[in-house]
Amino acid sequence: MKKAKHELVVIGAGPGGYVAAIRAAQLGMDAACIEVEPALGGTCLRVGCIPSKALLESSEKYLDADRELKKHGVNVSGLALDLAAMLKRKERIVKGLTGGVDGLFKKNKVTRYLGHGRLAGPGKVVVDGDEPVEITAKHVLVATGSRCAPLKGVEFKGAIGTSTEALSYQEVPGHLVVIGAGAIGLELGSVWRRLGAKVTVLEYLDRILPGADAGIAAAALRVFKRQGLKFQLDARVTGARLEGDGAVVDVEGVDPVAADRVLVAVGRAPVTEGLGLDTVGIETDKRGFIPVGEGFATSAGGVHAIGDVIGGAMLAHKAHEEGIACVERLATGYGHVNYDVIPSIAYTSPEVAWVGRTEEQLTEEGVAYRKGTFPFKANGRAQALGTTDGEVKILADGATDRVLGVHIFGPRAGDLVAEATAAMEFGASSEDVARTCHAHPTLSEALMEAALAVDDRVIHM
Ligand code: NAD
Repeated sequence: MKKAKHELVVIGAGPGGYVAAIRAAQLGMDAACIEVEPALGGTCLRVGCIPSKALLESSEKYLDADRELKKHGVNVSGLALDLAAMLKRKERIVKGLTGGVDGLFKKNKVTRYLGHGRLAGPGKVVVDGDEPVEITAKHVLVATGSRCAPLKGVEFKGAIGTSTEALSYQEVPGHLVVIGAGAIGLELGSVWRRLGAKVTVLEYLDRILPGADAGIAAAALRVFKRQGLKFQLDARVTGARLEGDGAVVDVEGVDPVAADRVLVAVGRAPVTEGLGLDTVGIETDKRGFIPVGEGFATSAGGVHAIGDVIGGAMLAHKAHEEGIACVERLATGYGHVNYDVIPSIAYTSPEVAWVGRTEEQLTEEGVAYRKGTFPFKANGRAQALGTTDGEVKILADGATDRVLGVHIFGPRAGDLVAEATAAMEFGASSEDVARTCHAHPTLSEALMEAALAVDDRVIHM
């Protein structure tokens, strides 16, 4: 077997792993990255964030052409969906970005290994591939990510699949049943609804978007229903089976639901099989995650882990932050992630975005807070854009006025939450946000007005 030596070997080239490898190389380390897929970028670039955003954008344009452009005095005739072209565009974007990571590796002199990486004892990693390699490394960083979690009683087969299949259906399903009303279910459910499918979302909880502020999630649910998505809340799926070309989904206590396609989106599970964790004495926790301590160190000397495989928020940008903090700490002794200020976004239309704590969390923690809200219908730019659903909610500490949470349902919420995130990172008060000059007319004024509302001095309401 070929032999090689590196200072750092990263297993997994997702947004945690590839970023960590690049940052390590920037810091002067001899870094390598092992990836089993020919394309770099992990779930995020290949079958997650990026392709879903491409389809969300395309499907929204189709819907706009069908329904919204008339309101602007633009009449379209002969509108037709070319799904094959839409899917090709998505693939081109994915190809460009994954190829871009290859380029970044070359530019930063990160050595890339194609194959399945596994630990093979202290300081040793083996790449199982066409050209097996045994690598000796001072540091190993496990960044193997996650995959769609299975659901008991449901086999992924034929019409029943995960987000990966739902990104590439070759025709619009007649009836798509989505299991789970998290970000994946709502985003991909929205795509196929816009393209003409009947979409039913079955959700175990009595609400959508676990993790989002309950009031904001309820407002979003009303709008999504208006868009034609059907919801069955308090619906626990107990199984699904293939029937004819489609499938039937069993829901506790109610009639089974027939579907042409079923998308299972009930969370994600860590990827650790075949990783050789036992060769260095690492044991996963009850849910299969790799436990880590300070600086992302595992129980094995020289082995660190970051991203979805260690649990917490399963988000590309959280993995990215952890990857950078981990290798900066290895190289410099310092590295830190502020878990209080990690934004979350569901790219529905309008988007749902939040950072910090929800009203429910603050109430549970017994923290006194003041709240300011502002609706997009009172924002001039939102009126001009024609997207006036939703609101901004700011929660500030009752005693100090420090911003504790910002929750946005509205146009470009995912971009607007960046200002809130930066403000919170700098420990801003709601007064700081309110006194910051916001350009007019912009959607960001809604954030400023919500901050003014915390102190009961909103101008445009
Ligand atoms: P999720 O955990 O966000 O939501 C899954 C939903 O499925 C939950 O509401 C849960 O109550 C429900 N559920 C579980 N078992 C069920 C059952 N038997 N019957 C009916 N409902 C059931 O998971 P997801 O949407 O699959 O996303 C997975 C991960 O990926 C999440 O951590 C998410 O944050 C992340 N992600 C993020 C984005 C984004 O940032 N835009 C997009 C996609 C995924």
